[in-house]
Amino acid sequence: MATNDTESARRLIASFTALAEPASSRAALAQWKLSTYASSDAESEAAEASVALARLYADDATHAEAKRLHEAAIDDPHVARAVHLLYLGTLAYRRDPQTLERIVRLETELETAYSTYRGELGSERLNENQIREILRADTCLERRRLAWEASKGIGPLVAPRVLELARLRNEVAKKLGYRDWFAMALAVEELDEAWLFQLLDQLDQATRAPYSEEKARIDAEACDWLRVPAEDLMPWHYQDVFFQEAPTTKATSIEHLMAGRDVAAASRSFYEDLGFGAEVAAIYDRSDLYPRENKSQHAFCTDIDRAGDVRILCNISPSERWLETTLHELGHGIYDLGIDRSLPWLLRSPSHIFATEAIAMLMGRRARDPHFLRRYIAERSPEEEVSDRALLRRRMLMLVRWVTVMTRFERELYAEPVRSAPELGKIWWDLAEQYQGMRRPPGERSTDWATKIHIALAPVYYQNYLLGELTASQVEAAIVRTTGEPLVGNAGAAAFLREKYFKPGASVRWDKLIEDATGAPLSPSHFAAEFVTKEA
Ligand SMILES: [Zn+2]
Repeated sequence: MATNDTESARRLIASFTALAEPASSRAALAQWKLSTYASSDAESEAAEASVALARLYADDATHAEAKRLHEAAIDDPHVARAVHLLYLGTLAYRRDPQTLERIVRLETELETAYSTYRGELGSERLNENQIREILRADTCLERRRLAWEASKGIGPLVAPRVLELARLRNEVAKKLGYRDWFAMALAVEELDEAWLFQLLDQLDQATRAPYSEEKARIDAEACDWLRVPAEDLMPWHYQDVFFQEAPTTKATSIEHLMAGRDVAAASRSFYEDLGFGAEVAAIYDRSDLYPRENKSQHAFCTDIDRAGDVRILCNISPSERWLETTLHELGHGIYDLGIDRSLPWLLRSPSHIFATEAIAMLMGRRARDPHFLRRYIAERSPEEEVSDRALLRRRMLMLVRWVTVMTRFERELYAEPVRSAPELGKIWWDLAEQYQGMRRPPGERSTDWATKIHIALAPVYYQNYLLGELTASQVEAAIVRTTGEPLVGNAGAAAFLREKYFKPGASVRWDKLIEDATGAPLSPSHFAAEFVTKEA
């Protein structure tokens, strides 16, 4: 009987929450301590807390009951949604202890391998930042080539283990009835594979011509800067090892504007003007904003308790990168704080990873929005405004092509039977040629794909970046339509976002959230109108 199932579901949610809520806060807090003051004590505390939380999701009885109830008729929509999310949450932990142990061991080994690897350039040993800096600024062609090749040096060291990991992940997925890990990962994230690839095809068609025009401009800039003939351009003549980040020139860089600027204050003013002053004040109170010894060099936002303790970790310096990152992380933070506190704990989180990325990206883009720059950083001339818009458009076109490479590659990586490294190496460069317009470098290149850390350690995640950008454009268009004003300085933005987008948390699935908030299902049309069809 439905009512019995509803009661059982309520009990399951209550008993799971009683354990998971404190365990999750403890894990988040331990991770925060480790990231802000690294020590071996903090490391073991964080590992122990995350294992304790994982154990709750791996519990056989919890999984069995969630599996039974997520297919049952449940009267209360919040309870039904919570049970469904709990069921999906337990799926990834359905692995026999031996496989689980091998997967964890491989992931840990790979994490260490990626973080400790240093590329060799003659007698120099270069970390990722140093390689990036050479590609960004060094005009010595041979040094650029060697630095780029050095970044690929980790490939042979990690590729066999990444392939073993792919086989193990597939074993887990197949035991649960999925085709492979790729299919399972999308299903657990409530994304339809056919829909996703149709979207990629659609965006491929829409961006092909504008991208190749933009790529020609990038090539011309590189030829001019490095004095290389166009027919000799190779991947190391661009400013990023994967041709992932948009290259800038002296004319399009805004670093000179950023010198001496207070990035945290500019970000705060921007959010205050939207109506998020109280949220940002609360976040800053608990955050760790500046570089320091013993602190993680990356950036993230964490919701410690789903009850108001939201923090960001940044390493702010006066640069465009940290302006964008600070705006981005605060975007995650205002979403977390805007979720209805009366929802059950399991639903008090963003509707989807890409739904929160969308808000972070919407806000992060302001770092190249002339309205933002003029209001919070410095005056922009009409020519500079054109260049700001063109650079943002370049970033978006490159993102579409790069996510396409990653997502298509990952589908091939997990296709059974798992291919050999040389076969995958060929697929990797075929995709880079076809979608990014890269020229394939000489040599076997059989492990270049394994140098991208996400493939090993954040599998089947990249589509979220694209879906986030599409959603950001659609949400921005809805804000403009509803309030009659652009986003920057728009005092009506907070009310719209809180009410329409943040409040429901995970009580609704991403597709319903977007349709309810913007009046239409997620589509690439707003993104395309903003960045593809319109020349800056
Ligand atoms: Zn983010």
